Formats: sequence, structure tokens, C-alpha cells
Amino acid sequence: MTYDVIIIGGGPAGLTAGLYTSRGRLKSLLIEKGLTGGLVTTTEWIENYPGFEEGILGAELAQKMEKQAVKFGLEIVQGSVADISLAGKLKSVILEDGTRYETKSIIFATGAHPRLLKIEGEDRFRGRGVSYCATCDGAFYRDKKIVVVGGGDSAVQESLFLTRFAAMVFVVHRRDQLRAEKILQERAVSNPKIKFVWDSVVERISGNDVVNAVHIKNVKTGEKSVLEVDGIFVFIGYNPNTEFLKGLVELNGDNYIVTDDRMSTTASGIFAAGDVRSKPYKQISTAVGDGAAAAISAEKYVEENF
Ligand SMILES: Cc1cc2nc3c(=O)[nH]c(=O)nc-3n(C[C@H](O)[C@H](O)[C@H](O)COP(=O)(O)OP(=O)(O)OC[C@H]3O[C@@H](n4cnc5c(N)ncnc54)[C@H](O)[C@@H]3O)c2cc1C
Repeated sequence: MTYDVIIIGGGPAGLTAGLYTSRGRLKSLLIEKGLTGGLVTTTEWIENYPGFEEGILGAELAQKMEKQAVKFGLEIVQGSVADISLAGKLKSVILEDGTRYETKSIIFATGAHPRLLKIEGEDRFRGRGVSYCATCDGAFYRDKKIVVVGGGDSAVQESLFLTRFAAMVFVVHRRDQLRAEKILQERAVSNPKIKFVWDSVVERISGNDVVNAVHIKNVKTGEKSVLEVDGIFVFIGYNPNTEFLKGLVELNGDNYIVTDDRMSTTASGIFAAGDVRSKPYKQISTAVGDGAAAAISAEKYVEENF
């Protein structure tokens, strides 16, 4: 069986694309390797997605997006896409377990994964004090002291969330000011459980069975110090999930997919949407916009080429 469109990745970009293409009567399949909803499922509370004036739980928003797309006929399968092969106008999408699907067009909506600190102790204590997801692991740190690394929206938003559990959150940031939105900065600065450690980087994580200390260095003075804490949450940015795409479509210097404003990539019939593409602002609403645009472009492509 040949699909009109296969969407790879089931975050807000992929689910929106799936809603549009299935509602547009294209035979549509979405392949997701983890939880449908993508990064939204790892975000506790979302208050800047329009239509939910009181805010909404990330998991609930993800469920609503999935239900809406499935209602119009979107098929969803679980699987990790490992390769794409192009044979004439048709394309094959190949999963890690060897399953193959044929399609007329593809939308990549594979998002990005957290960047690692790449320091001593990070690997050893992953899952035992080192985390990249506050929603997943925050509750383990009730009345404990923790470090958050980073100064952008995610770091500050997640630090605020972690104060619900932790006794103290040390935010270690390599600069002397935050990059996060002003409203988040204001909330963090006025939160008595958050203490900022400016101009500093984490050099090493240590412990016995679990983390008990984070070793930091002030980048301006060179002074070294130790924070005795039970955990460390890392929010220092993301890398795109494009490993299996190299050579297929043009990627920018950071390996994000290059698209035009119709979400077309450099390969005919292949589109990209959301955090995986090269663009300045990575938000749910921008991912949703990309997903809609990619779907409309895929519809036009299928109509004109088959
Ligand atoms: C901590 C945090 C808090 C955030 N808070 C907000 C907020 O409050 N408001 C806001 O607007 N934005 C927020 N964001 C940003 C927002 O979550 C993202 O911009 C948005 O989820 C991007 O959607 P996406 O569909 O492009 O990618 P993602 O949500 O990353 O989804 C990509 C999906 O693709 C899947 N995938 C990857 N590779 C493969 C493969 N090979 N095969 C199959 N599936 C694959 C992944 O499993 C994932 O489910 C936050 C992000 C983080 C990290």
C-alpha cells in the first residue's frame, strides 16, 4: 500500500500536519518513536498556547492534538525511522526493525533532543541525579537541593517548576544575565527558592551511588567551588534529530533542516516542520504553524505529481 504522505515525528508539528493531511483526504501515516506529543508531554504546564486562557497541562494538550488528528483518519504507528530511500517519485521510509512503508511525500517533524554537558559524571549518574526533564523527574527531589544548568526559557521555566518540590534550586549560568523571556525572569528572580550562580560553568558531577555534588568554576575569576546537591537538571539547548537525513536534504551548520517558507526541503516531495528545521523561534505555536504549512505543501505536491 502506498501512502500519500508519511509524517515522521508526533509532536505538535507532526500532529498538526497529520490533522491537515487526513482532513484533506490524503492517506496519511504518522510514525512516532516515543510518546505522541513530543516535547509537549515533558512540559508540565503551558500558558502561552492560544485558546487555553487558564493554561493547560502539556500531556492534556498533546492528547487533544492526537485525538483531533485521529478523528479525521490519521493512522499512527510506533516505530523509530532509521532510513529513507528514494526510488523514482516514490519514497520508502524504513524503521529500525526493518519495516518499510511506501509514500508519495514525507514530512519530517522529528524535533530535537537535549544537548549534553559532556563532562565527567554526566553519563555515570544519568537517571541517578542527572536529568534532562523536570516534569519526568522533579517529584524525586522533594525537599532536596538541586542545580539547574542554563539561562534560556526552558532552564528558567523548569527551575520555577522544580521549586514546587525542591528546597533550593541553584541556577548555574555561564553569563551574568538570563536569555529567558522577561516574564519568566521576573518570576525566577522573585522566587525565594531560586539562587543564581552567575558567570559559572559546571565542570564535574560527583557522588557515590547517586549525585551528591556539582563542581563549578567561575569563568571570569577562575574560582572553583562545590555545590552539595542531590541532582542536576541540564537545559542548555537542543540538537536536531536529523542523523538519518544526512545527504538526503540540505542541513545547516548545526544540522537543522533548511526549508523555504512553504516548508519545502531541497528534496522534491520532502517537507520539514517544527523544531527540526532551521528557524529562530522554537515554540508549540510556531511548530503548529509549520505543520499546517508543510501539510498544505504536501497536498499540493501530491495533487500535481501523481
Ligand atoms: C522544557 C521545555 C519546556 C517548553 N515549554 C514550552 C512552552 O511553555 N510553550 C511553548 O510554546 N513551547 C515550549 N517548549 C517548546 C516546544 O515544546 C517545542 O517547540 C515543540 O514541542 C516542538 O514541536 P515539534 O513537533 O517540532 O517537535 P517535538 O515536540 O520535539 O516532537 C518531535 C517528535 O519526533 C519524534 N521522533 C524523533 N526522531 C524520530 C524518528 N527517527 N522516528 C520516529 N519519531 C521520531 C520524537 O520522539 C518526538 O515525539 C518547551 C520545550 C521544552 C524542552
